[in-house]
Amino acid sequence: MATRRSTTNKQDLPSVVQPQRAATPAQDPGLEKRQFGQRARLALTPAQARLLDEQAHAARAMWNLLHDWWTMLASNQRTLAAADAAIRQARQDIDWLAVLPAQAAQAVLKTYFQAWKNCWEGRANAPTFKARFRSVMSVDIPQGRDLQVTRVHRRWGMVNIPKVGRVRFRWTKDMPVGKKATADNRITGARLVKDPLGWHIAFRVQTHEPKPAPHTGPEVGIDAGVAVPLALSDGYHHTHEEWKSTKDKPNAWLTDKEQATLRALERRAAHRKSFRKPGERTSRRLRTTYDRIARLRARAKRRAIDWQHQTTTLIARTYGVIVVEDLAITNMTKSAKGTVEEPGRNVAQKSGLNRAISQEAWGRTVTMLTYKAAHYGGTLCKVPAPGTSLRCSACGFTTPGSRESQAVFVCKNEGCGWSGNADHNAARNTLHLYRMGLALVPAAGRAVVRRARRVKPATAR
Ligand SMILES: [Zn+2]
Repeated sequence: MATRRSTTNKQDLPSVVQPQRAATPAQDPGLEKRQFGQRARLALTPAQARLLDEQAHAARAMWNLLHDWWTMLASNQRTLAAADAAIRQARQDIDWLAVLPAQAAQAVLKTYFQAWKNCWEGRANAPTFKARFRSVMSVDIPQGRDLQVTRVHRRWGMVNIPKVGRVRFRWTKDMPVGKKATADNRITGARLVKDPLGWHIAFRVQTHEPKPAPHTGPEVGIDAGVAVPLALSDGYHHTHEEWKSTKDKPNAWLTDKEQATLRALERRAAHRKSFRKPGERTSRRLRTTYDRIARLRARAKRRAIDWQHQTTTLIARTYGVIVVEDLAITNMTKSAKGTVEEPGRNVAQKSGLNRAISQEAWGRTVTMLTYKAAHYGGTLCKVPAPGTSLRCSACGFTTPGSRESQAVFVCKNEGCGWSGNADHNAARNTLHLYRMGLALVPAAGRAVVRRARRVKPATAR
């Protein structure tokens, strides 16, 4: 499987920079705290997996009980202490709730309160009931010392999971464990998450590193292209030629064989579903088919994320200033059917564009670039998007008909006639907007920039 590699025309990219760490002694105020996640696959036996499933269902039930308790009580009775007492009582009274370790139950309470805080501060909607088949199965291990992580092999580590036991996991990256762990550099906790490919563990790692020296690399504009996944303003581009969608293979991240399997499974699921009467439970066979479909899609997503990680790391190491368009992806996908900007025009083409955009997951690319640029001492800037794909990057005029197709741009302005890849043109425009001083919020160092929705002030609630 690992034989297929994505391609990049990187033979003579500007030199890749190792992060220049200023040589500071330990305990220096120049040290910077860094918190990040490290995800690994768990090698569970079927019995252990069943234990974890039970824990996750108990955690979900705990959340739902808490939600009921919270929404029924008068607001002056909802306190953290009362919730804590209610949880302790529930764990005593309901024996299947006790399969969830006490620390994990406390973590559910903490997450639930945080969900309300996020709601009040305008970052999210109000927390809701977690339905069995629509919620992600997860269990929290809030205390790092419970984990007892050790490395047992070049490729394997061992971790302690409360009420499950010692479990092996794939060791893919060095972590501060054992003698390397200090008060500053250590694993502070973990979260177990189940996806269609099985249970994974996400370690919370905290390190203190010298602040990176400012990145002196060149500036670059990046466009989320359609013909080219990532087009850079200096003429380079990042593509994944081996993984390419075609007419018969809409999902770029599957092999032809996998795509054929996916099609057959989808047909089979639709066929079986056609026999199901309204209100009837999903049969075990149909559920198995759904699971296989989910596994294939998860595999495709994992490959896409892998490519994004490799590409964004290369970009963040190469360039000092990275400029991207501030795209509102939800608006773009909404406008396909019309009503927003161009009602009903080019619906087919636009829905194709939307598919390409959501498949390349532009938002995730920007998130990765944001924290990686900060890690390597660079900055990420956003510029307003309108017009970048239609304006000529050589003469600066928008002449009708210049964008000949999704891929080709030929300037129709008299006396200019610049021609090139349409995505490169947009990337050059993006960089130009930055040089004109039109950058929006500099988002460096923040992984997520959230826009506050209108919320009532705290006193009015
Ligand atoms: Zn021109």
